[in-house]
Amino acid sequence: MISVSEARAALFQLSSVTEVEQVPLAQANGRVLAQPVSATRDQPPFSASAMDGYALKRHEVELHAMFQVIGEAAAGHRFDGLLKAGQAVRIFTGAPVPDGADFVVIQEDVGRKKDLITILNQPGDSDNIRPRGGDFSIGQTVNAPRLLRASDVALLAAMNIPVVPVFRRPVVALISTGDELVMPGGTPGPDQIIASNTFGLKAMLEEFGAEVRILPIAKDNEPSLKMAFSLARDVDLVVTIGGASVGDHDLVAKVSADLGMERSFYKVAMRPGKPLMAGRMGKTAMVGLPGNPVSAMVCGHIFLRPMIQSMLGLQPGVEPLQTATLTHELAANGPREHYMRATVAAGKVTVSPAQDSSLLTVLADANALLILPPNAPAQRPGETLQYLPI
Ligand code: AMP
Ligand code: MG
Repeated sequence: MISVSEARAALFQLSSVTEVEQVPLAQANGRVLAQPVSATRDQPPFSASAMDGYALKRHEVELHAMFQVIGEAAAGHRFDGLLKAGQAVRIFTGAPVPDGADFVVIQEDVGRKKDLITILNQPGDSDNIRPRGGDFSIGQTVNAPRLLRASDVALLAAMNIPVVPVFRRPVVALISTGDELVMPGGTPGPDQIIASNTFGLKAMLEEFGAEVRILPIAKDNEPSLKMAFSLARDVDLVVTIGGASVGDHDLVAKVSADLGMERSFYKVAMRPGKPLMAGRMGKTAMVGLPGNPVSAMVCGHIFLRPMIQSMLGLQPGVEPLQTATLTHELAANGPREHYMRATVAAGKVTVSPAQDSSLLTVLADANALLILPPNAPAQRPGETLQYLPI
């Protein structure tokens, strides 16, 4: 049995970065920038007023000084003339500062009668001007790879980059296996349950940036499983759920081997999730997850997330682990790394009392997987432990 980190390293070997594709800016959120992009202009492209007020000359600013208002500059409409001594231009936020002016007095500090203004409050030191290129200059780059968030999209828009090079979303096919499974909305027989992992994993993998296809449920017989695999030939990653142990009905290992899978590993020293399997079928990476719903979802967080990140060209293996202090005692761990469903609030972590790997209610109420390393000793309240937010 290999360790979690060895398994993860092996999974990176199976994950290749996808190609670059161009997407419209409006669809770039959540995608990974694949190549550096450069600003095509300065922002602001001119010295701009940061306030509503009056543009004038800084050296003329003093309490009770009077100026003649000779025109107006609004956003999108510059004042064309040249400002001379004793003159001011009415100006609004975002408007170009007129030639000859180097200061904006905010309107709250000014009294106006017709075309005459008087400075009534001593203005502060700030000139209230945003210099040309103060945000960014032409040629300034946004480096890749970078997971684009809403604020990045705003920046790329301001840089006038309407089409963005991103890594293609990896395509993942999900195959549920089991005679007992029925799709949500179906009518289960007396011995059947609803396929839940499939939908949980689809949601999870989409959050990670993948495009997910749910394939028809494979029955616990070879032809059915072979048929499901045959539908997954062109994807980047095929994930089977269930049938990965060594029971009489666990056919994933046999069928995938018959179909030419080069196995990378089978079984990982972790709880839940031990019967994890991985390999390669041609260009497609293959991961066989255990069927228990919580096991499958935990393996999604621990293994599929870094795989998808790696396929998306992001630095893999950077785990967003956090720490919290334990609120209660915890028994010593066995030889497998334990990912315990837990709740973290205000820096304190409480492990859920029921840890059976079939309990989706417990998983749904948890917001953390508390990580107990192999053979960790018993823990006392107040101990600091690592967890993965989920
Ligand atoms: P297996 O790994 O096939 O032995 O399945 C272990 C347990 O997980 C069994 O109780 C299965 O019924 C259950 N299971 C397998 N696949 C799914 C699934 N897609 N959704 C919900 N439960 C599943
Ligand atoms: Mg099964």
